[in-house]
Amino acid sequence: MKLLLVSPQPGCSVSRLLTEWGHEVRHAVEVGQVGSLLHGVEGVLVVVASLEMAADVAALSTQEIRPRPFLLALVSGSTEQVPMDALLAAAVDDFVMMPVEPVQLRLRLEWLSRRRRAGMQTLLEGSASAGAVERLSAIIQTQSDIVSAGLELDKVMWLIAERARQLCGAAGSAVALADGDELVYRATTGQHSRHLGFRLKLAHSITGMSILRGEVLHTRDTENDPRVNVSATRTTGIGSMIVVPVQRAGTTVGAINITYEQPNAYDDLDVRTLELMGRLLGAAMNNAAEFESKRTVVSELAAALEALQKNQHLFHSFMSQCPVLALVKDAEGRRVWINEPYARFFHRNVESMLGLTDADLLPPAAAERMRQEDLATLASGKPRNCVQMIPSPDGTSHYWLSHKFVLSDAAGRPLLGAMAIDITARIVAEEALRRSEESFRALIEGLPEAIFVHREDRLLYVNPAGLAFLDHRSTEGLAGMSLLELIHPEDHRAAASVLESPAAGARTSMREVRFLRACGQVRTAELSAMQLLFGGESATVVSARDITERKQMQARLLLADRLSSVGTLAAGVAHEINNPLAFVLSNLSFLEEECQLLAKDVPRERLREMEDVLRETRQGAERVRHIVRDLRTLSRDEGDHLSDVDVCGVIESSLGLVRNELRHRARVVKDLEPVPRVRASEGRLGQVLLNLLINALHSLPSGQPNQNEVRVRARALAGQVIIEVRDTGCGIAPEVRDRIFDPFFTTKPVGMGTGLGLSICHGIVTSLGGEISVESELGRGSTFRISLPAVVQPARTA
Ligand code: ADP
Repeated sequence: MKLLLVSPQPGCSVSRLLTEWGHEVRHAVEVGQVGSLLHGVEGVLVVVASLEMAADVAALSTQEIRPRPFLLALVSGSTEQVPMDALLAAAVDDFVMMPVEPVQLRLRLEWLSRRRRAGMQTLLEGSASAGAVERLSAIIQTQSDIVSAGLELDKVMWLIAERARQLCGAAGSAVALADGDELVYRATTGQHSRHLGFRLKLAHSITGMSILRGEVLHTRDTENDPRVNVSATRTTGIGSMIVVPVQRAGTTVGAINITYEQPNAYDDLDVRTLELMGRLLGAAMNNAAEFESKRTVVSELAAALEALQKNQHLFHSFMSQCPVLALVKDAEGRRVWINEPYARFFHRNVESMLGLTDADLLPPAAAERMRQEDLATLASGKPRNCVQMIPSPDGTSHYWLSHKFVLSDAAGRPLLGAMAIDITARIVAEEALRRSEESFRALIEGLPEAIFVHREDRLLYVNPAGLAFLDHRSTEGLAGMSLLELIHPEDHRAAASVLESPAAGARTSMREVRFLRACGQVRTAELSAMQLLFGGESATVVSARDITERKQMQARLLLADRLSSVGTLAAGVAHEINNPLAFVLSNLSFLEEECQLLAKDVPRERLREMEDVLRETRQGAERVRHIVRDLRTLSRDEGDHLSDVDVCGVIESSLGLVRNELRHRARVVKDLEPVPRVRASEGRLGQVLLNLLINALHSLPSGQPNQNEVRVRARALAGQVIIEVRDTGCGIAPEVRDRIFDPFFTTKPVGMGTGLGLSICHGIVTSLGGEISVESELGRGSTFRISLPAVVQPARTA
């Protein structure tokens, strides 16, 4: 580019820069040299001079210089206070602030070169007058001033209004913007200055009409133009005016006007100048709006970015602090995201784990299980929970409760998400509990004592010993029952006191209760309870110790003890009575004989009396003799011969003795199975059976043989021969049941019973190694049961 630098110092820094950039630089040390240098050289594009010298350069007659070079002023001072008026007065094309920033200088030169290339002739449309060129330069300068003014619209509007006023030599100028059906003066200069901020109806002014129509309007003489509000123009002192609309994006948004005090004060160039200024303002407003909208978008973006960053920070710190292991894998099982706790579990850092698969981190079996779970989740697309054992790198087993789900990446490819929480402690505790429950169950299953687990008045569990105790095959039918339903109603209160929630771990005191077995038998047990955990919940564990045998044994011992003392006593008494009785009986015999001899000497009446007394005395004495005999039997004061006795034969003969009497009172039923022999005295065993049959007879009312029954039964059971005598008689009251085996206990009237029968039976049976017991229900009958050891047949030898 050919340049002319007008400067008193030819080797100045600007000169050096211009030369360095490859420009062809000429120097003029004073303005006087400029004319000849321009004439002598073709095609100088730019003359560079200080602002002070620029005015003189511009004043040179440049009519012959074609093309006219641009004038670039070097302005000293601050950017804030650009000497606008001086620049306009000097009609410079552009300026650069001193000290020169190389970039600025280069930019301005490039800009001027482009302006030249764009060809300002087109804009001027053939107007070659010097005034037009200068105005165009000023307009272009205004454009660069707008850039300097930044994007503050009010500043820009004022700059344009003022520049238009100056260029067109007007008295005032204003920029008005449309606001609904009004206009507002946003920038005013000169004679309009005081109208800043004024509002007018669009339809009431020529400026408003220009806005409404989008047309350039001008009035050469305000006094003679019907469109003009004459009173207003007179007040302001306006003789003529030009208004051009300001358009932005094809819409009229306002207008710029210039006013003159005189009529006919403007020409076409002024109108065109104002039009260009209007376009400049429209473009500036557009830029400002665009900038504003961009700034809004940018600030929205910045806010969104900040929010995103905040969220990201929150998410990151949440994921780093939470105890949950979280990860995302791709369809091939490669980790695409993991949180820090996940990396920590494997003693690694997050980055080093990305891209790794299960097989890279876990033992083969665990990796395979994991992969199968993942594939199943991906295939179903549904979230699923699973418990997985994952060993840590140091080899300890960890159990994880995992929640797996499917998600997708930005491209829509499926990913597998998983969150896992360590439940090792819970699993270990559950396992310990399960083991302890198993051993607890094994313990109570093996206990010989009956155990019942009871909760909320319902049976939950009965151990095998309990089932046997209750004579139940299985817990079926027992589950859901209350334990009280298995207990004799008279013992409910005692049982309830045991079941009443004992303190946890403490055992209640023992209570004796009777249980009702499935077979109808009654068994006595000592009951106690504890509160324990069963199946993880509190329950009452009741233990029942069967004491039926023990009680029976105690009763038998008690009875035997009583009988033995009574027997000793009875033996002594019998012995003492026997001697006097012997001579009483012998004397009686003598007296009877004497009576016979005296028969002929004693009157008949008297003799009969004497015989009656003797007979009654004998009866009494005989009775005493029987009692003494029974007493001696009781005391076993004899040695009986024992043999292997056929029980059924003895039953038959005993029945034969009482059959007659029985016939009047009951049906007699024999239920005799073939039974082994027993070792006994046949006479004694017969005495026992006779006694039981007579007692049965006595318990039955006479005259209703069809309604009553005496059944005698014999059967073999577990090495024993069982004999039962059952009647449907009056039964035995519970309060006397324990005493019937006592000697001399009788409920029969005097003379009918001695109360020795059952005690003798007991003595005989026990002496044979057997047992005698009774079951009875008042009003329904009694069953006396004798069991005697069966004789074991020696094995036959060949
Ligand atoms: P006794 O028959 O002389 O009274 P026992 O020793 O034979 O003496 O019987 C004692 C008591 O047992 C009887 O008085 C009676 O109350 C009761 N008893 C015995 N057997 C029966 C029976 N089969 N039915 C009802 N009560 C009986």
